[in-house]
Amino acid sequence: MRRALAIQADIQTLHSLIAEAAMAVRGYLLTGRDDFLNPYRHAQQALPATLDSLRRHVRDPVVMASLRHIDELWQRKQESLEELRIEGRSLPPADLQAHLIGSKGVLDELRTEIQITYARETELVREYSAAARRAFLRNLWVDFVTSALVLASGLGAFLLLFSGVVQRVKLLVVNAERLSRGEALETLPNGRDELGLLAERLQNASVLLARRADEARAASLAKTQFLSRTSHELRTPLNAILGFAQLLETDLRGSPHSPQLEHILVAGRHLLTLIDEVLDIARIESGDLKLSLAPQSLHELAQEATDLVTPFAQRQGIVLHLVPPFADVAALADRQRLRQVLINLLSNAIKYNRPGGEVFLGVRLESDQVWISIRDTGIGIRPELLPRLFAPFERLDAEHAGVEGTGLGLAVSRQLMRCMGGDIEVQSTPGVGSVFSLRLARARRAADAPPAATSAAPATNTSQPNDMRPVLVIEDNASNLALMQALIARRPQWRMVAARDGEAGLREARAEPPALILLDLNLSGRSGESVLAELRADPAFRETPVVVVSADALPETIERLRAAGANDYLTKPLEVARFLALLDRIAA
Ligand code: ADP
Repeated sequence: MRRALAIQADIQTLHSLIAEAAMAVRGYLLTGRDDFLNPYRHAQQALPATLDSLRRHVRDPVVMASLRHIDELWQRKQESLEELRIEGRSLPPADLQAHLIGSKGVLDELRTEIQITYARETELVREYSAAARRAFLRNLWVDFVTSALVLASGLGAFLLLFSGVVQRVKLLVVNAERLSRGEALETLPNGRDELGLLAERLQNASVLLARRADEARAASLAKTQFLSRTSHELRTPLNAILGFAQLLETDLRGSPHSPQLEHILVAGRHLLTLIDEVLDIARIESGDLKLSLAPQSLHELAQEATDLVTPFAQRQGIVLHLVPPFADVAALADRQRLRQVLINLLSNAIKYNRPGGEVFLGVRLESDQVWISIRDTGIGIRPELLPRLFAPFERLDAEHAGVEGTGLGLAVSRQLMRCMGGDIEVQSTPGVGSVFSLRLARARRAADAPPAATSAAPATNTSQPNDMRPVLVIEDNASNLALMQALIARRPQWRMVAARDGEAGLREARAEPPALILLDLNLSGRSGESVLAELRADPAFRETPVVVVSADALPETIERLRAAGANDYLTKPLEVARFLALLDRIAA
């Protein structure tokens, strides 16, 4: 295309050089001035160079032939011009005219040839440009299709890669969530890229976490075992302390020693509460707390709890009210634990009240929830102290007010409520009183009430002194045996036979069938539980009343021993009145 354009330019140059040369010679002939010949001389030099350039560029055979013809014509034209230049001025006018006409004929021929060549080249330029456009369009399509293909394959590759990456990231997210819940991780495909490394790190973290969880579980188990062992060890001597103190309290009533005994009893009971509450906290924390949630009649439970705290309220000069109408609805709770919470809150409402104060216990329904409220007219709690109210060992102002307590009751109560799916809330106005509200899920039907707490039957001394019945006490602790001896001595219808371990107990029982067996569980050698199993398996003792007397106060142990055939279960430290009532009941 460029060549064709250069050819066109050369043809135009050629045309103008020839025209100028002819004009220059004519000018010279007319004027006789030599400088008019300059364009002619320039054409003589430039024209061969232009023709050369044309020959070099031209490919088309038609144009090639035209060029040869132009070259020939130019030679002829040049000769004719040369003749005119040399002789023209001396020729007679008729000869000059004939010469000029002949020279013009050559010039016309040259012009025609140049025009033909130019037209041919123009046509070639058109053809070339059409071909170039076609080529351009074809290339454009090829480029477009190629680009589209490249784009599509790139997109495909990206999507493939992207979907793979998305899949792996999703699995990583799942694993991260599992890790946060402490669950085992999904196995992910290995990879050396960043995602692969991340997966590997998550896996390592999960292994580490599992190991730490195992260690924490083991430590927590050790702590719970330690606490339950310690609590047992503490309860055993407390049994002797509180038991003898209770005996002496009865014997020395009204004497000057009576207040001192009261101190021993208060301190001993405080220690006992502390042991129980620390053990509860430990059990809750280690997830060892066993609860049996069932619909509970709130009226019954409220009545039971108020009955239990009434003597304390009377001593403190506080009046207890069950707020009418006390809706007898059922709530989903563990009976024993809810009673424990109620007693705790009622005791606080009595302890932190004012002389002549009141305590109101009420129940309110709110859609599928039940609220039990304990309101007192006591000293209240300052708002700035409320955030610390449920912290373990936190006694707030009571620390220095001389009111007995451990600072654990509310901490245990809140944990227990949460374990039962409920909670405790508090509202308090200093100087006016406090309201503690327990929230629980409402239950459709109250469970059958279990037998009410063992109430001591009045002591009846109907048996004859010579009609003494043997009571076999299987107990390995000397102080506890001494206490039993002292207690049993208070009931002349009973005579104690002692055995210091399980085997000795079974031997004694076979030697002299007892009317009652009091069995400790934690004996040296054979356990009390296996002694009970052997007794119940023996037809001779199938009907003999066996009462377990143990420092193990765990509800599940009590339940298990009752199921294994124990007629009753007394926890140490013994409540003297309850123990004597039991002797009386069996003797009756
Ligand atoms: P404790 O009564 O053994 O000290 P609690 O955990 O039951 O322990 O209670 C923690 C503290 O909260 C108490 O020491 C007392 O200062 C305060 N408190 C609890 N109940 C009441 C109440 N009804 N009125 C005023 N203060 C209370």
